[in-house]
Amino acid sequence: MAEIVLDQVSKKYPDGSLAVSEVDITIADGEFIILVGPSGCGKSTTLNMIAGLEDISSGELRIAGERVNEKAPKDRDIAMVFQSYALYPHMTVRDNIAFPLTLAKMPKQEIASKVDEAARILDLGQYLDRKPANLSGGQRQRVAMGRAIVRSPKAFLMDEPLSNLDAKLRVQTRTEIAQLQQRLGTTTVYVTHDQTEAMTLGDRVVVLRSGLVQQIGSPAELYNKPSNLFVAGFIGSPA
Ligand code: ADP
Ligand code: MG
Repeated sequence: MAEIVLDQVSKKYPDGSLAVSEVDITIADGEFIILVGPSGCGKSTTLNMIAGLEDISSGELRIAGERVNEKAPKDRDIAMVFQSYALYPHMTVRDNIAFPLTLAKMPKQEIASKVDEAARILDLGQYLDRKPANLSGGQRQRVAMGRAIVRSPKAFLMDEPLSNLDAKLRVQTRTEIAQLQQRLGTTTVYVTHDQTEAMTLGDRVVVLRSGLVQQIGSPAELYNKPSNLFVAGFIGSPA
């Protein structure tokens, strides 16, 4: 069970700016949820608080029923999928995917079988000995995903994972992400500023504006019953 609950979560940065304000979101186990909104609305801050990369100023965050406000990122059992440029250039694909397991000092044989499994799922088997520089953008993004799935985490967190891919590859890779999520059934929080991604990728969408939740619902609900003009305008609902 990997339900993620944000209960009145706020983030005030040391300079006093309120980036996220009393946010309530309950993400069901296995759900694919999208955080969407314009630049600066608090998407990354929200994701980083779930990951433990930013402290929560007030409110409570629970993962699988347990309060995790004070837990270090490594103890939350969730994987952040960074953009493909976060790969280690001097390491092979195999070593990049294996990296979290190597860090955790998992036995070599076990690592090898986990990496093989991830490579099979992501269709990377023939690239395991290459360095990232010798891969296409889409392949690199799959390696970044491999590094996340190899740990079988409770949840995936993705912050604009497609933003440095070209338009065609973006469409292809987002289809792959959706298929992968369905296949693994892992709770996923996906951040984007792109309405099309938000409306096509997830089970539910959270629309944020200036650190405030505007609406949470399925793409159809947002489109047909936007809660305010901002949501309607952002989603492109008929007036
Ligand atoms: P998004 O990911 O939706 O573009 P962010 O979560 O990055 O938005 O930022 C939300 C707000 O918090 C913005 O106003 C941004 O300027 C501010 N902010 C982000 N990071 C910091 C920080 N480290 N210190 C102060 N303010 C920050
Ligand atoms: Mg951001």
